[in-house]
Amino acid sequence: MKQEKTTGTIATEATVKRSIYSLQLNEWRDWLKEQGEKPFRAEQIYDWLYKKRAASFEDMSNLSKSLRDKLEQHFVLTTLHTIIQQTSSDGTIKFLFELHDGVSIETVLMRHEYGNSVCVTTQVGCRIGCTFCASTLGGLKRNLEAGEIVAQVVKVQQTLDETDERVSSIVIMGIGEPFDNYDHMLSFLKIMNHEKGMNIGARHITVSTSGIIPRIYQFADENMQINFAISLHAPNTELRSRLMPINRAYKLPDLMDAVRYYVNKTGRRISFEYGLFGGVNDQVEHAEELAQLVKGLKCHINLIPVNYVPERDYVRTPKRQIFQFERTLRDLGVNVTIRREQGHDIEAACGQLRAKERKEETR
Ligand code: SF4
Repeated sequence: MKQEKTTGTIATEATVKRSIYSLQLNEWRDWLKEQGEKPFRAEQIYDWLYKKRAASFEDMSNLSKSLRDKLEQHFVLTTLHTIIQQTSSDGTIKFLFELHDGVSIETVLMRHEYGNSVCVTTQVGCRIGCTFCASTLGGLKRNLEAGEIVAQVVKVQQTLDETDERVSSIVIMGIGEPFDNYDHMLSFLKIMNHEKGMNIGARHITVSTSGIIPRIYQFADENMQINFAISLHAPNTELRSRLMPINRAYKLPDLMDAVRYYVNKTGRRISFEYGLFGGVNDQVEHAEELAQLVKGLKCHINLIPVNYVPERDYVRTPKRQIFQFERTLRDLGVNVTIRREQGHDIEAACGQLRAKERKEETR
């Protein structure tokens, strides 16, 4: 594992200005009109931000000096300051970024055979309180602006530019509950997906929720071709409420109704994330109950063998038992895979690096 640490912070001017990555193309046109500028400049700004990945306003050479000055007056280009960059032996890179107000977030670059995937954070901390998750320690500090989410992908892409590589997919599974910051998340999705923005195909973007039911209905009605995943982790109400307190507000049977609505409305398959916690939810009877729960649903189950969580009491399920769990599901007709482990020699699990390095934020 290789780790680089930096000291210092970004300019506090960011506290009064918006991130330049916050605006969708149509919002840029409106802003330009308000400034007395030609709306076609919106495409040029997008080009500088997402295709040329300009590092300064000065670089934007086909914009007039007065427009560049206006941009500089209203927006900031750099909202993320890299505090730590950890590189795993398998190529996974974990970034700990500091934001303009001193709080920190994590972003992860994962290397797959099919390309480079970025896992982004949507909130500083999280208020959902899943019992297995380091991201929720210290609660929710604040939501991220759309531009602060976009900036994570741009930062990783700038790192990849050095080796002429490209971000090819995005997972919204970092710190925070994306559906608890819905509007900014949606704006982020649109900027990522736009052919003049990062141009990442909807089918290469995955959003995951712990189960905020009203937002699932809303998301289904957006009718986007985005991959959608539910963090399930338990096959029944009682066990799920123990692992994920959100299940007390949004109960499993109601969640499954919302999931069925999503699948019927969009025609798309849904994924369930199922973390295996040793001795808690990893027995054959749990697999049987899980198969029953998803019976008849167009879905896929992603089994995630969970490592020891230092802040919690969970232990890893033995390998033999992981395979037995998978076999039981498969024999019962369920589409299932086991997630490949990545970044095992760095703090790759969500929120672990932040919890270790920023103790004052996560108490
Ligand atoms: S697993 Fe996700 S929703 Fe649950 S506490 Fe962690 S960040 Fe929040």
